[in-house]
Amino acid sequence: MNRIAVLGSTGSIGTRTLQVARHLGNRVEVVALAAGHNTTLLSRQIGEFHPRLYHSLNPYAVESAESRSASLLDIVSDEEVDTVVIATSGNVGLEPTLLALRNGKTVLLSNKEVLVMAGELVMAASRESGAHLLPVDSEHSALWQCLRGESGGVGRLLLTASGGPFHRYSVEQLASITPADALAHPVWSMGQKITIDSATLMNKGLEVIEAHWLFDTPFESIDIVVHPDCIVHSLVEFVDGTVKAQLSQPDMALPIQYALSYPDRMQGFLPPLSWDKIRTLTFEPVDDKKFPCLRLAREAGKAGMTFPAVLCGADEVAVDLFLHGSIRFTDIASIVHGAIEAHQPVANPDLAQIIEADDWARRFAASHHAHTQFTSTSHAETSQEIE
Ligand code: MG
Repeated sequence: MNRIAVLGSTGSIGTRTLQVARHLGNRVEVVALAAGHNTTLLSRQIGEFHPRLYHSLNPYAVESAESRSASLLDIVSDEEVDTVVIATSGNVGLEPTLLALRNGKTVLLSNKEVLVMAGELVMAASRESGAHLLPVDSEHSALWQCLRGESGGVGRLLLTASGGPFHRYSVEQLASITPADALAHPVWSMGQKITIDSATLMNKGLEVIEAHWLFDTPFESIDIVVHPDCIVHSLVEFVDGTVKAQLSQPDMALPIQYALSYPDRMQGFLPPLSWDKIRTLTFEPVDDKKFPCLRLAREAGKAGMTFPAVLCGADEVAVDLFLHGSIRFTDIASIVHGAIEAHQPVANPDLAQIIEADDWARRFAASHHAHTQFTSTSHAETSQEIE
């Protein structure tokens, strides 16, 4: 029996996690649910799973019967919780992840920003308490599955990218993309922020930084390969030339279930791949000139310090500005670049300094978007400036 707390239970990963929990039946018990403002769905989830604890940004609007309202930090410290699923987005998951790991809880991490912003602190917390940190992202789950049972000899990690809906667009076409175009992802159905991040390839950049921390791999040994079919979820190339890949349906239920049932595999509820329909698997190189967010993320990750926090904060505001029609699609990268250029980094930051850098970047992005215009060539200069 795995007693779980789901933080971000009403979001895309949260609802899928509960679906997997439903499927796994008495192997999983939901003891806590936490959500933001979607009190209607949270009330319904509480009615179905009867968690002992819940958290909401609007607790009085939640119908909870016997469940008790609690803070996120209380939930991740609760003695009856074995596993915490961090399915929040943005910087909300940071403190709960660190505390859960320090309390020795297994953490299933879907909230990208946590490792991107505070990778050093998160990995240290996991190391010191011996708590498992398990990825809930198709790419990292794939890498993890390929690496299990291996004791070294890794040459390269290859993260696959669908390429997003604009993979074949010219730079001119990219500038005129509307929020509606960008929200229509061809394969994965996800929240709005991550869908836009997938279209700019910022999402892939964040995943490179996550892979660096999760698998203790230098940035030089992590590459991207575009794979529009979304069947291969990532690959590991070993020093002897062998490549291991993980293939499955593109559905988050799989990485979620694998992490929930780890170290076992359980019967899934999705149909297997139909090999009589799959004729080809295509792979293409990625064009990071057309998608500067990917390069910005890699450079911020390499530079470390508070740069990754700035990358996340600026990107979140820029994506929001784009979704509200205030800026063009291509301005997202310009704003993030501007924030990284203007930032005064802090070395070996603690959590407060990381959050402060993220806050600063949000303010920067919000106030500079109106009057700052960068040309696409200026992105090329970033590497020297932040390395
Ligand atoms: Mg992913």
